[in-house]
Amino acid sequence: MARYTGAVCRFCRREGMKLFLKGERCYTDKCAVTRRKGAPGMHGQSRKKLSEYGLQLREKQKAKRYYGVLESQFAKYFDMAEKKQGVTGENLLQIIESRLDNVVYRSGFATSRPEARILVTHGHFEVNGKRVDIPSYLVKPGDVITLQEKSRSSEKFKAILDITSGRTVPSWLDANHDTCESKVVTLAKREDIDLEIEEHLIVELYSK
Ligand code: SF4
Repeated sequence: MARYTGAVCRFCRREGMKLFLKGERCYTDKCAVTRRKGAPGMHGQSRKKLSEYGLQLREKQKAKRYYGVLESQFAKYFDMAEKKQGVTGENLLQIIESRLDNVVYRSGFATSRPEARILVTHGHFEVNGKRVDIPSYLVKPGDVITLQEKSRSSEKFKAILDITSGRTVPSWLDANHDTCESKVVTLAKREDIDLEIEEHLIVELYSK
């Protein structure tokens, strides 16, 4: 299925929040959410009150866009979340957080999730010493993600690490920018995930 390649800032304006899809720009006053309030399009300023279904749908769209996951994959993650013990909504976020592209981003080896996705696809990372170029690869506790030796000296990665050096790495990851390694200490818990999302609305949507 085709992946959306248009102007991603529209997504943030549509959701009324920053989804951090453009790296460094998201932290500057050039960010479209900071500059222009309201959803894109002619009727963007006039927000209608959403129905219960509309609210549930928006939460799902927000999560999909935040993580850059397509509908079919998102539905697959929901199935996995339902089969796991615990709270389905929290399981869902935990599973998506375990994607390799997200771990690369969270570890500070990319400035945004879309960039992390491209870097993984281009084969810059190894998991436990083996090259993995699948962004949706799900990591487990104990896995070690490493930037490939030959990529470490590139100007691109030096610039990325420079940009991300001040960012906080969540405690479920142990990232070391000197050795270009990140260890998965444990799976992410809900309190580790700084996503403004009401995941119970997504569960309600899929439970209809
Ligand atoms: Fe979203 Fe970043 Fe664009 Fe701001 S700059 S609207 S956070 S993608």
